[in-house]
Amino acid sequence: MTGRFLALVLALLLAPPASAETRPPNELGRVMILEYHRIDYPEERWTRTPENFRRDLETLWAGGYRLVALNDLLDGRIALEAGRTPVVLTFDDSSPGQFRYLEVDGRLEIDPKCAVGILEAFSREHPDFGRAATFFVLPGAARPNRLFDQPEHEGRKLRFLAGRGYEIGNHTLWHANLGKYEEATVREQISLAQQWIQRHLPRYPIRTLALPHGVYPREVSWALQGTAKGVTYRHDALLMVAGGAAPSPFSRAFDPTRLPRIQATERELQSWLAHFERRPEERFLSDGDPTVITIPRAGRRDLRTALPGDLRVIER
Ligand SMILES: [Zn+2]
Repeated sequence: MTGRFLALVLALLLAPPASAETRPPNELGRVMILEYHRIDYPEERWTRTPENFRRDLETLWAGGYRLVALNDLLDGRIALEAGRTPVVLTFDDSSPGQFRYLEVDGRLEIDPKCAVGILEAFSREHPDFGRAATFFVLPGAARPNRLFDQPEHEGRKLRFLAGRGYEIGNHTLWHANLGKYEEATVREQISLAQQWIQRHLPRYPIRTLALPHGVYPREVSWALQGTAKGVTYRHDALLMVAGGAAPSPFSRAFDPTRLPRIQATERELQSWLAHFERRPEERFLSDGDPTVITIPRAGRRDLRTALPGDLRVIER
């Protein structure tokens, strides 16, 4: 009797809470790639305040979203607990509020109000949220957008980011509108940006390019790979500036040369969160096993033909 009672109590205690976990996994669901610009005051079209950015992280965490690195998404390497949804953070234009050092008592500290400071603190308080973001930097832009605007610390910042599992992406040398230039200039803008980044991080693999203004060069291939000024670049994905939630990396609709993003304004973010509340069947929900892709019944026709890695597909 006592044993059965104990077993019942244990079962109740160990049961997962009734939330997203109770929905069946769907790894063909869509994924939000959020796009931030300035983290600063006041809140406006291209600026999120530090407090609002922190609130975004809280909202995402409470809603069952977990951080996944962009490169892991591209590789289909999504190692989340069952019932969780990946979300990718991206930051464009390397403005100072994204990453700032302060000198405190002769020591350098990351400003707790810059994006990196907020992310670091949030991940410390919520280790299950993960720690990932991609920074699409401008190494040759005018101030204040040149590599976060502290020239004396720019190498330290890039090394910190790479060493902590954040990613650095190409956003061209100085935010060139790639639709306006001939091939040679397009390639130079990309290869020189890479060269400047790799000056601080030798051989660092830059796998992604965010198109300034979302504008493609006349030939997409110019942005994907090539050599200019003695520098060879090769990108696995090109990111746009809009377009909504991205298809699952396992979906036939996933096109890494046209990755859509969601601008992380209050309105856009709320509207996409509400969208997935209304239509939870559209949302990527992990099965908890990174070696298995769990898809809806009869979902095979929506699968990509060439799946990344050595992944097994299960219909639920
Ligand atoms: Zn930009």
